[in-house]
Amino acid sequence: MSDQPWAGGSFGDRGVCVLAPNANYMTLDGTNTWVLHEPGADSCLVIDPGPSDPGHLEAITATAARLVGTDPDAPGLIASVLLTHHHADHSEAAGEFAAAAGCGVRALDPAYRLGSEGLGEGDVVTAGGLEVHVVATPGHTADSLSFLVPAERAVLTGDTVLGRGTTVVAHPDGELGAYLASLDRLHALCEAGEVTWVWPGHGPVIPDALAALDYYRQHRAERLAQVEEALLVLGLDASPRQVVEHVYVDVDPVLWGAAELSVRAQLAYLRAGR
Ligand SMILES: [Zn+2]
Repeated sequence: MSDQPWAGGSFGDRGVCVLAPNANYMTLDGTNTWVLHEPGADSCLVIDPGPSDPGHLEAITATAARLVGTDPDAPGLIASVLLTHHHADHSEAAGEFAAAAGCGVRALDPAYRLGSEGLGEGDVVTAGGLEVHVVATPGHTADSLSFLVPAERAVLTGDTVLGRGTTVVAHPDGELGAYLASLDRLHALCEAGEVTWVWPGHGPVIPDALAALDYYRQHRAERLAQVEEALLVLGLDASPRQVVEHVYVDVDPVLWGAAELSVRAQLAYLRAGR
């Protein structure tokens, strides 16, 4: 969690992050597109092609070609495109990118797939000796997946865990109960020694995944306690907006719209009796 500008780059022996040029207050520095490659293999996996920007898509292909040591139009260069979730800043270019590369798009939500192959909990995706294990981590959205790269002890978290700050539980698609369970699941993978790195969907990589998950769980618990406190002050039928203004005073008002989604998720969670 540093304030250094994030520009992507190579991580471990198998991960390269190509940063998309779509920075804004929600996407932090822009979307991280990940190209995964087993050393010596002749194909790559691409995670979250991101926005439909020709220069970005070219950079993804050029990165894959460089890793493989071939030219960008080599057939089979991209084995498959995977999506962490359906939000447009991750998925917009997936179909056109995969079609041009001659491969499919695999996602939990069938509406975002290209080709017949789905993607979900427990799936193992391979490309030239590379293994990626799919871990369902709903909460930011219902269709959020994380991708574990065992050989790197790294987990690609999409928007479930970000490189900086915390994420939005995008109510009503996102659900706080599911999100907390997903954080617990990732935390357990860290405790078991299976994960030490977070390779997130936005912002810098995190070398201490366990500390990041501790912080996320603590942050969620604190926010929830603040919302409960706000309801004591404002009354049980306070509007989400009133709660945001009470709880998120420390947050830039430009983010209050996003905060309201998280507050709605928290109110739904509390009103359902947790
Ligand atoms: Zn998202």
